[in-house]
Amino acid sequence: MTYTLSHHIDGQLQASNSPRKSELYNPATGEIIGHVPLADLSEVDKAVAAAKKAFPAWADTPPVKRARTLFKFKTLIEQNLEELAMIVTREHGKTIEDAKGSIIRGLEVVEFMCGAPNLLKGSFSDEVGPGIDCYSLRQPLGVCAGITPFNFPAMIPLWMFPAAIVCGNTFVLKPSERDPSCSMRLVELAYEAGLPQGVINVVHGDKVAVDAILTHPDIAAVSFVGSTPIAEYVQQTAIAHGKRVQAFGGAKNHAIIMPDADVEQTADAIAGAAFGSCGQRCMAVSVAVAIGDEVADKLVARIAEQAKRLRIGPGNQPNIDMGPLVTPQHYAKVKSYLDLGVEEGAKLVVDGRDFKHTDYPNGFYLGANVFDHVTPSMRIYKEEIFGPVLCIVRVSSESEALNLINTHQYGNGTAIFTRDGDSAREFARRVQAGMVGINVAIPVPVAFHSFGGWKRSIFSDLGMYGSESVQFNTKLKTITARWPTGIRHQSAYVMPTHE
Ligand code: NAD
Repeated sequence: MTYTLSHHIDGQLQASNSPRKSELYNPATGEIIGHVPLADLSEVDKAVAAAKKAFPAWADTPPVKRARTLFKFKTLIEQNLEELAMIVTREHGKTIEDAKGSIIRGLEVVEFMCGAPNLLKGSFSDEVGPGIDCYSLRQPLGVCAGITPFNFPAMIPLWMFPAAIVCGNTFVLKPSERDPSCSMRLVELAYEAGLPQGVINVVHGDKVAVDAILTHPDIAAVSFVGSTPIAEYVQQTAIAHGKRVQAFGGAKNHAIIMPDADVEQTADAIAGAAFGSCGQRCMAVSVAVAIGDEVADKLVARIAEQAKRLRIGPGNQPNIDMGPLVTPQHYAKVKSYLDLGVEEGAKLVVDGRDFKHTDYPNGFYLGANVFDHVTPSMRIYKEEIFGPVLCIVRVSSESEALNLINTHQYGNGTAIFTRDGDSAREFARRVQAGMVGINVAIPVPVAFHSFGGWKRSIFSDLGMYGSESVQFNTKLKTITARWPTGIRHQSAYVMPTHE
């Protein structure tokens, strides 16, 4: 029995009238399990109109009341964690435990945003001139939109809409068309928490819906997470249409292994960071840079051992380490990079290309893959593969390793493994990346810091979540006030000063 999703507009499910739709897979079995509509312009219009109608009353709702609704939403996410994780696993393929972990990271953003009234409180300066005070407020923007990728179908929507709505905005979410069901369930829970009609709307779709959002005159701001070419396009198009925009792109995260590192522990951490979620994480480690051949040989041997031992299978079964890739198209893309790496001359020391699951031969499974002797000129090094593929690059010094990272097009996350505090500190200061781990393979910041890469991993001035999200979702207004008691107004034809 397959299912067909509806949009969620003005607090209600609304079946789509669009003739276009996309297939939803269960990647673990390869079966088509449902369909998602691909909205046309009129459906995006309806969602935006609902959000626009809900905005004035929601913006006037005291921040603490908005935060209370979010607090109930947080409790509902906790109560429904198992179900949400199952929905993520069904359409994405990652293991249930990994899905739960990602939802909890999203939940932490909701928890942080419950305290957002503290960040919205503004500032006041008394007596900036005779009888004159000056104060600043942060006010909501209006209708905000979020466009999200497939790889975190709960966490990334939770990075976006809780921050937007607690600041008094209303929201239109366009989730990934590859695994959109979790967004629907999250929005249902938000309404169960007491959100007024129209404050959040979900419209499904592809480029047509995204373009309608980017050019819509009633949308004030757009948050985007996805691949770099689309992030750049989203940023440029949204800016050209007068919107505030934050767009986050792809990655190629390097981990440096210094000669003094505990190689076994490091190799285990890197294997988890490279192959967890089948490598479909923007903070996955996809390049390990070993300093010296001795470190490299030990590292490759240990990671290869781990890679071969991985338990691969459906994410909803117990004791599985790695699920399938998300779609047949993505499977084909990752596999083509493996063939390319071999052609380019890298040594494929662990080859997962022929992996087939005996019970689910049509699932989109790939084994883990390790390329040794990768060089910076190879495409498998330069480009994001977004699969269970680890490239090992051998260098002879820390400065050579640092230079590799600093000249790479991407700068999302990076990590150094060492016991030497000086090296770690120097690395953290000099490296051209937005998020740095010291003996931490996946340094995704906690919810009260902000997430954001550098270089072609980001097309934005502000990070996602933490206090930077409150800045992104509000605009500053500064009021200078004088009450006429005692001081007579006089015409002044020069620039007012504080005198
Ligand atoms: P994607 O760019 O294909 O899709 C992202 C969103 O853009 C989807 O909602 C999709 O419908 C829309 N889209 C796709 N093609 C479009 C087009 N031509 N015009 C307009 N909109 C379009 O990304 P994905 O494959 O879903 O996600 C994986 C990518 O996301 C990877 O590159 C990964 O590194 C990146 N990512 C980045 C971060 C980060 O924070 N930097 C986090 C997660 C994922």
